Formats: sequence, structure tokens, C-alpha cells
Amino acid sequence: MQIEENRSLKNHNSFGFDISAEYFIEVSNEAQLISALQWARQKSLPVFILGGGSNIVFTRDVTGLVIHIGIMHYDANVISNQHVEVRVGAGMCWHELVARTTQEGYYGLENLALIPGYAGAAPIQNIGAYGSEVCDTLINVETIDQQSAEKRTLTNDECGFSYRHSIFKSEQGANLIVTAVTFRLSLIDKPVVQYQALKDAIKDAGLTHASASDIFKLVCTVRRSKLPDPKDLGNAGSFFKNPVITRQQLDAIAAQYSDVPSFEQTDGQFKVPAAWLIDRAGWKGYRNTHVGVHDKQALVLINHSGGSGKQIALLADEIKSDIQNRFNVCLEREPVLY
Ligand SMILES: Cc1cc2nc3c(=O)[nH]c(=O)nc-3n(C[C@H](O)[C@H](O)[C@H](O)COP(=O)(O)OP(=O)(O)OC[C@H]3O[C@@H](n4cnc5c(N)ncnc54)[C@H](O)[C@@H]3O)c2cc1C
Repeated sequence: MQIEENRSLKNHNSFGFDISAEYFIEVSNEAQLISALQWARQKSLPVFILGGGSNIVFTRDVTGLVIHIGIMHYDANVISNQHVEVRVGAGMCWHELVARTTQEGYYGLENLALIPGYAGAAPIQNIGAYGSEVCDTLINVETIDQQSAEKRTLTNDECGFSYRHSIFKSEQGANLIVTAVTFRLSLIDKPVVQYQALKDAIKDAGLTHASASDIFKLVCTVRRSKLPDPKDLGNAGSFFKNPVITRQQLDAIAAQYSDVPSFEQTDGQFKVPAAWLIDRAGWKGYRNTHVGVHDKQALVLINHSGGSGKQIALLADEIKSDIQNRFNVCLEREPVLY
């Protein structure tokens, strides 16, 4: 086992914060993962599971053992003339998976193109974009329990998916380490195009009919134009979830701002874009020396360089309390804070 001591995680988090792990190991299969867990248990060290580091704000050095998931495999099994099951290792790069399945004519992941991170983290917060969520195509998640090292496969239902949430974010599933994920994808090219920004992109591209491949390319183009690349400007994508509020809360905002966008939910509540609230509160483009809010996308907090996780966490707190005071809306953080 190759355990490194005092290893920098600067290149392992999309904010680019210069923090380090007390101990660090990369595992490329389940046996190595189990050995690493045993090693940490013998030394009574806490364990932190790391994927691509694109949904974490490190505010301090990591105590204990960081296990970087490098489990890579890809198997496709055609199960009927309509469907294929694709099983992948948790360490596979998410975007490479989307690119590969789309290219091979296995459809269903194309709207989720260019989301950073690894396949194993995709079910953790049920990643979503452009009208699709990972739970739409996921069949099961293979896991290893951090405490008992037992293997357990969870079905889609058992994962308890909802908007940016799953069992893995709750106490019940917090000990489970994802080792592989299986998707049921379609052999029929029938993309999901209901999302307004996607409809606009299809129209702007002059397409009358968009194939899954077109959607893949359009999503990549739109995302590149809207979101800063973490290689150039450290960030973790959307910093807050879109809040779901009551009719009363919405009416109170609308009394002041008649253009407040809202999307009615099946339970009669309304989803409001967090980016709109933050923008209206005047935070878009705000900069506080090393950290700030992106000038094109108010939902993205950025490390201009030399910033720290503590500074980002403080800025997020300021924004959160301002939105609470102005709009009576409580914002919930999307990335994990360590
Ligand atoms: C520019 C940018 C754009 C983004 N756009 C989107 C978007 O459109 N939609 C969206 O939903 N998200 C988006 N994100 C957030 C992020 O990409 C996703 O949440 C992604 O799934 C995180 O994957 P990761 O491998 O980087 O996870 P990490 O950041 O490494 O980990 C995130 C959490 O999951 C845990 N974890 C990681 N791997 C495992 C595993 N194998 N088993 C158990 N726990 C694990 C970690 O311990 C941590 O708690 C974006 C981020 C960036 C930087």
C-alpha cells in the first residue's frame, strides 16, 4: 500500500485551495479500498473519500486518511433492442463517461455533459442539469461500508433520490463508499429537450430536430460560455440549491419584484432560481480581494487566486443572511464543507 504523508490537495479540489491531507492513498480496486480502510481503522484515523474534488470546500487541512477513488472500468451489456446497461467504476471521469456513451449510441446521459467529477460521486447529490438528473437512468449503486467493509448494492429506489439529494447525504448512507454505478441507457435516440435554455440553444443553432449528439455538443457549448473553468478560476459550480418556497413567500417577493421567476412544484410550492435572488441582491461580480461572485453567473463563488476555503465559507454566509433578510428565503449550500 502506497500511503503518502502530508500530501497537497491543491490539484485535487476545483477551488484550488492549498490544503493538505495528513495521509493520502489512491485505490484502483475494491481490495485496495478495503485494505486502506483497515489501515485507517488500525490507527484509529478518520477517513475522507475523495473523487474529483469538484463539490467540496476545504476550509482546513484534512485529518486522517484521504482515500482517492481511482476505480476505473466500463462494461456495456445490451439487454434488449431498446436498452443497454452500462456499469462503470466510481473513479471514471463523469464527462468521459457521457462522451463515450453518447458516441457509442447509448443515450440518456447527454444533458449531463461537462459536469466535473467522477461517476461515483454522481449519485451522492443526484447531479442534474438541463432537465435531467442522474436518477433518471441509474439502476443501482454498488457500495462498501466504511465501518464493516461489507458490500451492499442499492437499487434506484433505495438511494432515496430527490433534488440534489440522496441517502448518501443522510446519516443512513453516510458510511457507504460508492465503488460502481450501473445505468440503463436507451439505444433509441430520443433526447430530453424540455428545458428552456436547451430549447433556446437548439433554436439558436438553427436545428429543427436535435439528436442526442447535438444535445451533448450544445450543452458543452452553453456550459463553456456560462461557467468558469475551474482550471482558470477556482469554483465548485452552483454554490446554493434553488430554494423551494411557499406561495406566501413568493407573493411577498413578487410585491417588490414583479419579474421574479418561479416554477410551480407538484406539492404546490415554488422553486425560485437562487441565482436570480443573489443577482437581485447585488452580489453578482462582487469581489473581496481573493474571493468573490462570478460576474456572469451569480450562483458561482470563485477563488480569484490565493483565496481560502474559510474566505469562501464566510462570503457564502454573508450572501445567505442577506438573502434571508431581503427575501425571507433560506439558501442551502450545495457543496460539502470540510
Ligand atoms: C464548474 C462546475 C460545474 C458544476 N456543474 C454541476 C451541475 O451542473 N450539476 C450538478 O449537479 N453538479 C455540478 N457541479 C458539482 C460537482 O461537479 C458534482 O457534484 C460532482 O458529482 C462531484 O463529483 P466529484 O467526484 O468531484 O466529488 P467530490 O467533490 O470529490 O466529493 C463530493 C462529496 O461526495 C463524496 N464522495 C465522492 N466520491 C465518493 C464515493 N465514491 N463514495 C462515497 N462518497 C463519495 C465526498 O466525500 C464528498 O462528500 C459542478 C461543479 C463545478 C466545479
